[in-house]
Amino acid sequence: MEKVLEVKNLHVSFKTYGGEVKAVRGVTFDLYKGETLAIVGESGCGKSVSAQSIMRLIPNPPGKIKHGSILFKGMDLTAVKEPQMRNIRGADISMIFQDPMTALNPTISIGEQIIEGVLQHKQVTRQEAKKTALEMLDLVGIPNPVERLKHYPHQFSGGMRQRIVIAMALVCQPEVLIADEPTTALDVTIQAQILDLFKEIQSKTGVSIILITHDLGVVAQVADRVVVMYAGKIVEAGSRREIFYNPQHPYTKGLLNSVPRLDIEETELVPIGGSPPDLFSPPTGCPFTARCAYAMEVCDRKYPFKTRLSQEHHVDCWLQDERAIKMLASIK
Ligand code: SF4
Repeated sequence: MEKVLEVKNLHVSFKTYGGEVKAVRGVTFDLYKGETLAIVGESGCGKSVSAQSIMRLIPNPPGKIKHGSILFKGMDLTAVKEPQMRNIRGADISMIFQDPMTALNPTISIGEQIIEGVLQHKQVTRQEAKKTALEMLDLVGIPNPVERLKHYPHQFSGGMRQRIVIAMALVCQPEVLIADEPTTALDVTIQAQILDLFKEIQSKTGVSIILITHDLGVVAQVADRVVVMYAGKIVEAGSRREIFYNPQHPYTKGLLNSVPRLDIEETELVPIGGSPPDLFSPPTGCPFTARCAYAMEVCDRKYPFKTRLSQEHHVDCWLQDERAIKMLASIK
């Protein structure tokens, strides 16, 4: 499969009065053409910071991409100058945020907002831009688009506003769409409609989607592959089937155990006790040690190697690594 994006050994930090927060610590993943890759994990695990780094939206200062590369069409986005990055944003890589109301300007009609996006990135006339805007509104399921183009954001419901934000993100036919918690602010029925819309749009346009979420229900519905992040690192990754039916990292298992399941009777939800480590001074060993029921001595001393379980499935956990005992002997 063709790779559209390659993130390699990405490190992102933030300078604060209390010290340096190491928010993303060596993240590596690929995105293939036409797939949906879900990045999951609890708040503060680094999933949104990783996504914003791809768009180069990390404010510097206080944030900084300290190390690593983000390859898109042979370009390293970490080294691209800001004017070129402005052209890439929206045209090649687009982003959808959680709350559609904050993504839309309340004082400008949605038609103007979409047309402006087209005119900024494409050499077309205003009439052609309007035609594209109408086609996009139609694609995302806004009824009567000719009339609705004149309306303002407050004249739409929450679900409709999110559809408009999706239309704006896709209007220049980007190759990559990053959706950061796109359904969190919506109720469940609208959430299901928006997820169906993602699948429909992907089958029509072939766009590759990075879906950032903490909601495993959303992941189960739309993801092809899943990356699980914890304390700024990818601790497990695999196909949707591998992550849901054969999770190997205790944190991934904990996430799955804390989600209600309708297919099993009388299951008790088991929360993950404790809290994530302080990223001012992240532990040298496995960051999940303090919360892990299977933690061994080696876990606290050294970060586990990556164990490959299949072509897609890999996990960073000493439980999967037969070198754990040898490693402990060597660092004692
Ligand atoms: Fe638990 Fe150790 Fe595996 Fe970390 S490396 S998840 S502490 S068993």
